[in-house]
Amino acid sequence: MKNLSFLIVLTFFIITSCASQPPKIIKEVVRDTVVINKITERYESARIAKLDNYKISTSHYPAKGQDERIRFLVMHYTALDNEKSLNVLTQQEVSSHYLVPNDRTDSIFVLVDETKRSWHAGASYWKNVNNINFSSIGIEIVNFGYSTADPVSGDPDLAFTQRNFYDFPKNQIDKVAELAKDIIDRYNIEPVNVLAHSDVAPQRKHDPGPKFPWKELYTKHQIGAWYEDAQKNIFLGQFPYAEKDSTSFILSVQQDFEKYGYEIQKTGIWDTQTQKVITAFQYHFRPERYDGILDAETWAILKALILKYRS
Ligand SMILES: [Zn+2]
Repeated sequence: MKNLSFLIVLTFFIITSCASQPPKIIKEVVRDTVVINKITERYESARIAKLDNYKISTSHYPAKGQDERIRFLVMHYTALDNEKSLNVLTQQEVSSHYLVPNDRTDSIFVLVDETKRSWHAGASYWKNVNNINFSSIGIEIVNFGYSTADPVSGDPDLAFTQRNFYDFPKNQIDKVAELAKDIIDRYNIEPVNVLAHSDVAPQRKHDPGPKFPWKELYTKHQIGAWYEDAQKNIFLGQFPYAEKDSTSFILSVQQDFEKYGYEIQKTGIWDTQTQKVITAFQYHFRPERYDGILDAETWAILKALILKYRS
């Protein structure tokens, strides 16, 4: 088996080195279950038919017409401790590809093979794509989520702003960063497609919340999307304070959220569904205040992101 692998690799090198115009090979079958990804030069598992009566050829003819099934990376928190997280994510109807515990070890658990679909996102949407489970890798991070203080006024709308989220320890974020970087590089995931669960399900979800260090991941590890400060500052000076509650302005804001990727109804009013989208956006890009109100800074950041990534 070892000799056969060697022979195949050798044959491959001879073929490619002789060809005047080498074909653009993406993957090479080494054994029946392992391929080398020619972009990253790493081994990957492959799922290929095994037949009783016929041989699946080890010569590989990579078609031009192919791309990765994985287009999104989605971050979550479990809102449970290590033991319960592992239990729920392996024994119930929810799962994730990876689980990053907060136990200060260097361990990361694999719960679902990357070639399979894990059930982490539920009903979800991003930029014309539904059911993100089909096309994503999910990372669950052990973190208790948030506690809520009892709203003094008894007004349920106020409880909305009184979520106190838990910090992520540095050692855990370091693990998440290296794992995310590895996944993003192997699947060539676009920065705008590295997302929070709350981005793809803003009406239902708050994870991984405003304490998740998106800015640090971007600046230190080039993970995900972030705006340029200079562009944000230009937009800050253009916020139309006088028209901020007009139907046409609200519609334009809803269109901008949709343009960036969020699912939002274009109602022309500051309704609850819009407030939830704004909150999800603030968790990700303006974590200092996540009140669901479109202030000048939130608007300027949205505009700067669209300018950088969507125009
Ligand atoms: Zn989640």
